[in-house]
Amino acid sequence: MDCIFCKIANGEIPSKKVYEDDKCLAFYDLNPQAPVHVLFIPKQHICCVNKITEDNADAVAHIFTVIPKVAKELGLENGYRIINNCGKDAGQTVMHLHFHLLGGKTLGEKII
Ligand code: AMP
Ligand code: ZN
Repeated sequence: MDCIFCKIANGEIPSKKVYEDDKCLAFYDLNPQAPVHVLFIPKQHICCVNKITEDNADAVAHIFTVIPKVAKELGLENGYRIINNCGKDAGQTVMHLHFHLLGGKTLGEKII
Protein backbone atom coordinates (compact mmCIF):
# COMPACT_ATOMS: atom_id res chain seq x y z
CA MET A 1 0.00 0.00 0.00
CA ASP A 2 1.30 3.41 -0.93
CA CYS A 3 0.82 5.18 2.39
CA ILE A 4 3.51 7.58 3.57
CA PHE A 5 2.66 7.17 7.25
CA CYS A 6 2.82 3.35 6.96
CA LYS A 7 6.26 3.90 5.40
CA ILE A 8 7.24 6.17 8.28
CA ALA A 9 5.93 3.56 10.75
CA ASN A 10 8.04 0.79 9.16
CA GLY A 11 11.12 2.98 8.74
CA GLU A 12 11.08 3.16 4.92
CA ILE A 13 10.72 6.95 5.14
CA PRO A 14 12.73 8.76 7.82
CA SER A 15 11.06 10.90 10.45
CA LYS A 16 12.10 12.86 13.48
CA LYS A 17 10.69 10.53 16.11
CA VAL A 18 9.53 11.73 19.49
CA TYR A 19 8.06 8.49 20.82
CA GLU A 20 7.65 4.92 19.64
CA ASP A 21 6.25 1.67 21.00
CA ASP A 22 4.79 -1.45 19.43
CA LYS A 23 1.41 0.19 18.72
CA CYS A 24 2.10 3.82 17.87
CA LEU A 25 4.59 6.39 16.74
CA ALA A 26 4.94 10.12 17.29
CA PHE A 27 7.08 12.31 15.06
CA TYR A 28 7.51 15.98 14.24
CA ASP A 29 5.35 17.40 11.48
CA LEU A 30 7.37 18.49 8.42
CA ASN A 31 5.42 21.72 8.19
CA PRO A 32 4.96 22.87 11.78
CA GLN A 33 2.00 25.11 12.61
CA ALA A 34 3.17 25.83 16.18
CA PRO A 35 6.49 25.74 18.08
CA VAL A 36 5.62 22.14 18.97
CA HIS A 37 3.79 20.18 16.27
CA VAL A 38 3.89 16.42 16.59
CA LEU A 39 1.84 13.77 14.79
CA PHE A 40 0.64 10.62 16.56
CA ILE A 41 -0.19 7.62 14.40
CA PRO A 42 -1.20 4.03 15.04
CA LYS A 43 1.32 1.65 13.46
CA GLN A 44 -1.52 -0.30 11.87
CA HIS A 45 -3.12 1.36 8.87
CA ILE A 46 -6.44 2.98 9.75
CA CYS A 47 -7.36 5.54 7.11
CA CYS A 48 -9.35 7.93 9.27
CA VAL A 49 -11.75 8.27 12.18
CA ASN A 50 -14.49 6.73 10.01
CA LYS A 51 -12.59 3.44 10.08
CA ILE A 52 -12.20 3.15 13.84
CA THR A 53 -13.98 -0.03 14.97
CA GLU A 54 -14.35 -2.11 18.14
CA ASP A 55 -11.46 -4.22 16.79
CA ASN A 56 -8.93 -1.39 16.36
CA ALA A 57 -10.14 1.18 18.90
CA ASP A 58 -7.56 -0.05 21.43
CA ALA A 59 -4.80 1.42 19.23
CA VAL A 60 -6.56 4.79 19.31
CA ALA A 61 -7.18 4.64 23.06
CA HIS A 62 -3.52 3.80 23.51
CA ILE A 63 -2.47 6.89 21.59
CA PHE A 64 -4.53 9.01 23.97
CA THR A 65 -2.64 7.55 26.94
CA VAL A 66 0.66 8.40 25.25
CA ILE A 67 -0.22 11.97 24.25
CA PRO A 68 -0.17 13.46 27.79
CA LYS A 69 3.14 11.77 28.58
CA VAL A 70 4.77 13.12 25.43
CA ALA A 71 3.19 16.55 25.95
CA LYS A 72 4.72 16.66 29.42
CA GLU A 73 8.13 15.59 28.10
CA LEU A 74 7.94 18.36 25.50
CA GLY A 75 7.21 20.95 28.19
CA LEU A 76 3.60 21.65 27.30
CA GLU A 77 2.45 22.06 30.90
CA ASN A 78 0.46 25.19 29.97
CA GLY A 79 -1.71 23.18 27.61
CA TYR A 80 -1.94 22.01 24.06
CA ARG A 81 -4.43 21.26 21.31
CA ILE A 82 -5.18 17.91 19.65
CA ILE A 83 -6.58 18.07 16.12
CA ASN A 84 -7.80 15.37 13.79
CA ASN A 85 -8.91 16.04 10.24
CA CYS A 86 -11.27 13.42 8.85
CA GLY A 87 -11.93 13.44 5.13
CA LYS A 88 -11.95 15.98 2.34
CA ASP A 89 -14.02 18.75 3.90
CA ALA A 90 -11.72 18.77 6.92
CA GLY A 91 -8.65 18.92 4.69
CA GLN A 92 -7.21 15.50 5.52
CA THR A 93 -4.22 15.12 3.20
CA VAL A 94 -2.66 11.90 4.50
CA MET A 95 -5.13 9.03 4.61
CA HIS A 96 -3.60 7.33 7.63
CA LEU A 97 -5.22 8.25 10.94
CA HIS A 98 -3.19 10.86 12.79
CA PHE A 99 -3.65 13.28 15.64
CA HIS A 100 -1.88 16.62 15.58
CA LEU A 101 -0.43 17.79 18.89
CA LEU A 102 0.06 21.56 18.82
CA GLY A 103 1.52 23.70 21.55
CA GLY A 104 4.38 25.80 22.79
CA LYS A 105 2.53 29.11 22.52
CA THR A 106 -0.90 30.56 23.19
CA LEU A 107 -2.80 29.03 20.32
CA GLY A 108 -4.87 31.26 18.11
CA GLU A 109 -8.46 31.19 16.97
CA LYS A 110 -10.54 28.21 17.80
CA ILE A 111 -13.17 26.71 15.53
CA ILE A 112 -15.08 25.27 18.47
P1 AMP B 1 -3.65 16.39 7.57
O1 AMP B 1 -3.80 17.59 6.70
O2 AMP B 1 -4.46 16.42 8.83
O3 AMP B 1 -3.88 15.10 6.79
O4 AMP B 1 -2.17 16.39 8.08
C1 AMP B 1 -1.11 15.81 7.40
C2 AMP B 1 0.14 16.38 8.02
O5 AMP B 1 1.22 15.51 7.69
C3 AMP B 1 0.51 17.77 7.53
O6 AMP B 1 0.58 18.65 8.65
C4 AMP B 1 1.88 17.56 6.88
O7 AMP B 1 2.76 18.64 7.12
C5 AMP B 1 2.36 16.30 7.54
N1 AMP B 1 3.31 15.49 6.79
C6 AMP B 1 3.19 15.05 5.52
N2 AMP B 1 4.24 14.28 5.18
C7 AMP B 1 5.04 14.23 6.27
C8 AMP B 1 6.27 13.59 6.56
N3 AMP B 1 6.91 12.83 5.65
N4 AMP B 1 6.82 13.77 7.80
C9 AMP B 1 6.19 14.54 8.71
N5 AMP B 1 5.02 15.15 8.50
C10 AMP B 1 4.45 15.01 7.29
ZN1 ZN C 1 -0.99 3.82 6.37
